[in-house]
Amino acid sequence: QYVKGNSDMKKLLSNARFYTMISENDYYDSVLIENGNILKMFKTKPELTGIEELDLNSAFVYPGFIDTHTHSFEGGLYNLGTYLGDISTLKDLFAKLSFSQPISNKIFAYGFDENKIKEKRFPTASELDRIFPDKPVFIRRVDGHSSAINTKAAAQIDWQQPLPAPFTGHLNRSWNGRASNWFHRNLDEDSILNAYFTAAEIAIKKGHTTVHTMIGDAHSDPKHFRLIKNNLRRFPLEYILYPQITDCQVAKDLGASRIGGCILADGSFGSHTAALKEPYNDQPESHGTLYRTDEFWEKFILAAHKENLQIAVHCIGDRAIEQILKCYELAQHQYPKDLRHEIIHNELTSDETLDRLKKARISAVMQPMFDRLWAGPGGLYETRLGKERTSRTNRLASIYQRNILLTGGSDWYITEINALKGIDAAVRIHNPAERLTPFQAVKIYTSNAAALSFDEDKIGTLQNGRQADFVCLKEDIFQSNNISNIAITQVIKKGKLLL
Ligand SMILES: [Zn+2]
Ligand SMILES: [Zn+2]
Repeated sequence: QYVKGNSDMKKLLSNARFYTMISENDYYDSVLIENGNILKMFKTKPELTGIEELDLNSAFVYPGFIDTHTHSFEGGLYNLGTYLGDISTLKDLFAKLSFSQPISNKIFAYGFDENKIKEKRFPTASELDRIFPDKPVFIRRVDGHSSAINTKAAAQIDWQQPLPAPFTGHLNRSWNGRASNWFHRNLDEDSILNAYFTAAEIAIKKGHTTVHTMIGDAHSDPKHFRLIKNNLRRFPLEYILYPQITDCQVAKDLGASRIGGCILADGSFGSHTAALKEPYNDQPESHGTLYRTDEFWEKFILAAHKENLQIAVHCIGDRAIEQILKCYELAQHQYPKDLRHEIIHNELTSDETLDRLKKARISAVMQPMFDRLWAGPGGLYETRLGKERTSRTNRLASIYQRNILLTGGSDWYITEINALKGIDAAVRIHNPAERLTPFQAVKIYTSNAAALSFDEDKIGTLQNGRQADFVCLKEDIFQSNNISNIAITQVIKKGKLLL
């Protein structure tokens, strides 16, 4: 499956519009590649003799997409499991579950949203027991912040303390974390690798050649990380790995250059657990929850910063963002460094917070699809936050214009891994003031995304010496009114044809 013949030989890719993504309207007609890299780019097709040629059929070509925030393991694993995002009653759920194929003798289902079904609740453990009395069942809510399990699962999971009584099967917060961790950890190595291979295939189909992936969670041992790191070369795309732990020494021992991921400063708007400065609109007594103390974060962030680890933390609400930002500022004040620490999600922000992010050289790793799904009129964000605060969610343009390193991601499995959908959502953010131009939107999935992992000299733009990573489209993103649905014709990684 090489671009005609040996991948080390020179080849000319022609008959296309290659957007460099260095500046707007900068494009070439043909690209000569060798050894998986771009050798030379041409404005008009050169007359070369004895060089193999691949005609790209008038495709529009961009640097291979980079998703800077995924949980690819869950993405791959749940894809092998059962999808519950399209059901409308609990009866549908039970019917679908009964056809579920076990993975390592466990049942996985994902994408469940109790608000979208008639009964407006989770299934109970005893209801699940009726279908699966002998196999552990794990049903994950669409945002990952809660779940339902059956009695068999409850009996096997190591809870470390007695389950709250009466036990219904519905799990929140750390109970949810322990359960998901147990399910993920108790898979054999083949099932784990299989989940990552499945994830890579799905990502490539949507035009990605590099994917940042969170591994394990704050509770887990580093088994997955080692396994994936040792097998990195076998995957058809590049995975950028994040050990989701808070022990710097373990990260160093693993040979990681970063630490964290969706380690939680707070929860989600959906479950009223995102930490807010002002109370929830629909729960005036609640400000959400900071999951850990200032002292914990200060200690962790200063230690990781000192060890030159790039840090990533999940922050949704304005109070959580400020809690983490304060620690980043302190670290940068003590030892100024270019580590591009990440605030993942970075959903609800004020101008003042954004100015501080810029000053502390923090990266914003964001999910434009969150806006598309939840920030519309009468949607989840308006219910939880009211109109004024909803207009201050997902402030892509304000962040981009401040020159904060802004990158795009799907948070897959939370939303589908699909850069074109993310780009489309970014140019159509509900608040018109926060929309990116199509060029800016592509940058957050290419050149900006490359900079997040310090790979800007290798990927993310098309120029001489860069990796030959391309996504070829049937239509031009910069001219399209329907970006989400543009057909992907080819995906090329290091000169190798993957799709
Ligand atoms: Zn995440
Ligand atoms: Zn997260």
